[in-house]
This record gives sequence, C-alpha cells and structure tokens, in this order.
Amino acid sequence: MFYHTRFLARLVLFAATTLFALTTAQAHNGRKIVLPVDKVKGGLSVMVLGSGGPVATSKRVSTGYLIFTDGTPRILMDAGGGVFQRIGKSGAKIGGIEHIIFTHLHMDHDGALTPILAMSFFHNMAAGTVRNTPYRFAGPSANAISPFPSTSGYLNGLFSPDGGLERYLAGFPPALGAGTFTFETQDISADTALPMSTVFSDADGLVVKAIAVNHGPVPALAYRIEYKGKSLVYSGDTTSKTDNVIALAQNTDLLIYDTAILDDTPAPFINLHTTPTRIGEVAVASGAKKLLLSHITGITEPHLHSIKHTIREQGFSGPLKVAHDLQVINLHMKGKIHH
Ligand SMILES: [Zn+2]
Repeated sequence: MFYHTRFLARLVLFAATTLFALTTAQAHNGRKIVLPVDKVKGGLSVMVLGSGGPVATSKRVSTGYLIFTDGTPRILMDAGGGVFQRIGKSGAKIGGIEHIIFTHLHMDHDGALTPILAMSFFHNMAAGTVRNTPYRFAGPSANAISPFPSTSGYLNGLFSPDGGLERYLAGFPPALGAGTFTFETQDISADTALPMSTVFSDADGLVVKAIAVNHGPVPALAYRIEYKGKSLVYSGDTTSKTDNVIALAQNTDLLIYDTAILDDTPAPFINLHTTPTRIGEVAVASGAKKLLLSHITGITEPHLHSIKHTIREQGFSGPLKVAHDLQVINLHMKGKIHH
C-alpha cells in the first residue's frame, strides 16, 4: 500500500513536469507555435504520421496515419516505428482514440503499438479523463502460407491478461487513475477473392471498409474511411495484382498509395509492392480525385519526379503529391492537399 501511494505521488509529479514542459514549448519566444494538430479543420481529416518504409530516414519514419472527424482523433491506421514520436510532435492527444486498424503485421506497420497505447493512458491522465471503453482493433486474419498470426492472435499474444507478454500494460491506467485497458479485435479475412466488407459503422456516420490485397504471402488489407460524404482510401502494402484497390477506391476523394518500388525493381520487392505504372492504372480506374504517394523507401526517394511522370503517363490528371511526415489533409476543405 505504501509503495502504491508513493508510486502514484511520483506519477503526479511526472505529469505536472510534463505539462509544464508542454506549456513552455508552445510559447517559444513569446510566439505561439502552430502544431500539426492545429491544422486539422472540420469534417474528415488525415494526418500523415509516417510516410516511410521499414528504414527510418532523417525525414521519414515508418507507416502511420491519424484520422480525425470534426477535429477529434478517432482512428490510428498502422503504427510503425517512429509513429510514437510523430504523435508527440503533432500535438495530438490520443486518450480518446477509438479504433486502431492494421493493414498488416509487418514491423513497419505495428512496431510502435505498445508505447502508443501507454501514451494514450498518460494523455487521459493529463486531461483528467477516465477511459473505460475498449480499444477496438482490426486487421487481417492469418493465412495458410505465411508465419503471420491473425490480428487477434497478435494482440492477445501481447496484451492478454492470461499470459500476454506485455500484460503489465493493463496495470497502467488504474495506477494513473485513467480508467482501464480493455480491447476488442476483429480479424478481417485476408482472402483476396472476397469483396470489400464494412469493418465498423459508428453512430455518427464514421464508416470503415476493408478489402484484402496481395502483399506477396503476407495477409494484408486496404482500408476506405468515410465520413459526411467524403472518403479516403489507403492501399496498405500491396502489389495491386488484383483489382481490389480499384474496387475499394471508387471515386474516393483521396487515395494514399504504397510507393516503395520502381517499375524495374527486382525480386523480392516487385512481389510485394506496386510499380508506379500500376499505381497510375489503379488511380485512373478507380476515379480517385487526388493521389498521395507514401511509404517512400530508399528505392523510390531519389526518383520521385520520374515516378510522378510515369503515373501521369497512365492518364491520372488530378492533384498528385508526395506525402511528408506530419502533413495534414482536410477532406472537407477546398484547396490544395499539400500543407
Ligand atoms: Zn511496409
């Protein structure tokens, strides 16, 4: 009991110190610093947390996107290495995040999950909020040809109170006075022969749909997020060998695409990712209004100009940009997609 009280006292001190640090950082030289989260405006918005692949660079960390509705962060889509730091830098407070969805379970899409969850507990404590609703996870099922677990198998392996390797994490929210950590998981079939399905449909009109995509042997999904008449689609990592991204991305306002390889990149990557020519074909065939190239790798970083040219050659004529970390795109606001 004594230990418990002392632990709580230390936590309160830690929280007070952290809040002080945040306050001083935002008033640098007497000017208010505009944080990425301050750029989020109205309706449906997406913040690019990580626009890179499995190798972090000076300007890109691994994959992650934060989805906001009416300025509130609702969905974390992928949580690769570095995304933890980008959330901190963005100024977004994720204590109320409802959904965490995975395209697949490669480390550059899930490696930062545990620290992000811990951060969400601390955000609740700092805000004085108590969270007792479950985190709602979704991701691909397992398949017969790869060693990947199902998403529920992965999460239970980490967090199950009954033997999960990181089960200690459930002790954090009660110790912080911030609620409890519980979660639900949906495994979505990784069978690319199946049509798109609805993952969840919230009472306020936020809808997430998914379809399985080919990422070599890896069970993988692409997602479509809809809110108040606007939508965005994220390809996840895929070869786009099937037409599934085309089906999912019909007339979407924003298509975010895996841009990891060139047309002449050899195996193994050609069997895992989409060529620029195919990105252009998919963008045209889907009727996507805007295209954002992301998951930029060491292969594509030096060739972004020619990649855009190749995509244009396929007939895509809408706005076409390269993502950067902490970029915010407000789907309900008119104008450019680049901030
Ligand atoms: Zn990846």
